[in-house]
Amino acid sequence: MKLKAFDMMQWLQPKRDVCVVCSKMIGRARIQEDVDPFHVKELNKRLCADCVDQIAWIRNVQCMHCGRAQRCPDCLIRSDSALWMNRSAVVYQSAMKEWLHRYKFQGDERLTPILGAMLMPAVERLSAQLIRKENLEDQWRRSKLPALKWLQKTGSACWDGVTSVPVSETRYRERGFNQAEQLARIVSEKAQIPYVELLVRSTHHVDARQSHQGRGARFQGLSSRYHVSVSAINTWLRLKHRNASLKLLLIDDVYTTGNTIHACADAIAEVCPFPVTIASATWARS
Ligand SMILES: [Zn+2]
Ligand SMILES: [Zn+2]
Repeated sequence: MKLKAFDMMQWLQPKRDVCVVCSKMIGRARIQEDVDPFHVKELNKRLCADCVDQIAWIRNVQCMHCGRAQRCPDCLIRSDSALWMNRSAVVYQSAMKEWLHRYKFQGDERLTPILGAMLMPAVERLSAQLIRKENLEDQWRRSKLPALKWLQKTGSACWDGVTSVPVSETRYRERGFNQAEQLARIVSEKAQIPYVELLVRSTHHVDARQSHQGRGARFQGLSSRYHVSVSAINTWLRLKHRNASLKLLLIDDVYTTGNTIHACADAIAEVCPFPVTIASATWARS
């Protein structure tokens, strides 16, 4: 077989990786230990130490409901949501906004595995909370395993599925991908939890008059934007061979007001024939 000149050049040059974000050569890794072992090590292969340092990890959760690094009034006034809780990986500050912009609006898909891997600490936090919720903490502590690993070992206590917030057809046509689905598929693969396509975003546009309506009415309007197909739920249930309560991870890129995530959770809970614990893992919390 004949090699083309270009391929030959690739062979002859020593392989040195450059940072996906800033294009500098990747040197020694400096990921801090407290965010591992949740698959974050692989960020070292794709990012330089300076860019790794720019990651605005949420280390201290202040709002137990939405996972924000500071107390938030939104969660105090929200009631009756099917969303159990949210955890986010990073604070949505300037560097993180730039990364997401490059991925989502400029279509730089080299960032997909990075943002996906970055979600894993949030999934780990949710897994620890799920263990507490199910009163399994003593058994988990004895195992000395990370929460998600322990859940995987138990099988039945683990998450039953991973799903994502859908985008409208117009957005999908513009970008050519749904960023939330891409991230959810990475989480599904890393966590070994099946990806299930449950939510559909309806095509009707939100009435402009909504901005003049009260808060409650706006939530209602949002909820009707998302639908869950009964057949998708049934297929998922058949796959799981389960007819008891379910545990679902819902993935999105950014949690801002939380209205979208809450509306999606409500739409799922409404159609699901069994009690369902819905937790969201979002890449950033604004
Ligand atoms: Zn860099
Ligand atoms: Zn909150």
